[in-house]
Amino acid sequence: MDLRPFVRDIQDFPEPGVVFKDITPMFNNPKALNAAFEGLFNLVNGKAVDKVVGMESRGFFFAPMLANKLGAGFVPVRKKGKLPFATIGETYNLEYGTDILEIHTDAIQKGEKVLIHDDVLATGGTASAACRLIEKLGGEVVQCNFLIQLTFLKGADKLNGHQIRSLLTY
Ligand code: 5GP
Repeated sequence: MDLRPFVRDIQDFPEPGVVFKDITPMFNNPKALNAAFEGLFNLVNGKAVDKVVGMESRGFFFAPMLANKLGAGFVPVRKKGKLPFATIGETYNLEYGTDILEIHTDAIQKGEKVLIHDDVLATGGTASAACRLIEKLGGEVVQCNFLIQLTFLKGADKLNGHQIRSLLTY
């Protein structure tokens, strides 16, 4: 199933000059939702996975579903101050300034195989911070898995050779 008709471009969101890929039409349509999920699952290609890490907030849509189908646990990575238990943090670059992503210190055990999932890979700042958090806890990132990769923003360059798999590329 061609999922491109279910991704719409929003001009000047969240700020002037940005063209935002809106994925809500994909979630709104039952067949597209199922095709997107099955497609993301197939990208994992039978790899052993102990934990799926999803990034706040659109990474939370599919990451727990993927974890369930892979027989893995789900781990949220959130913006600073949102997680209730003990955390470690990583700073990452935004277009203007920086932000911090956090993970619970007990979310990943040493040697666990981790799949990262987010809706969009853009400049790679978010996913590379998530990789660093996982590696600080002793986890091994086995794949970075995205619905959409905006290749012209060169996010792959920030992911230090980690395997990247995306359902749609622009
Ligand atoms: P990066 O850190 O790679 O520059 O940006 C990726 C993060 O920003 C992801 O968490 C993603 O949800 C969000 N993001 C950036 N651009 C877009 C976009 O065009 N559409 C959507 N849905 N999310 C985006």
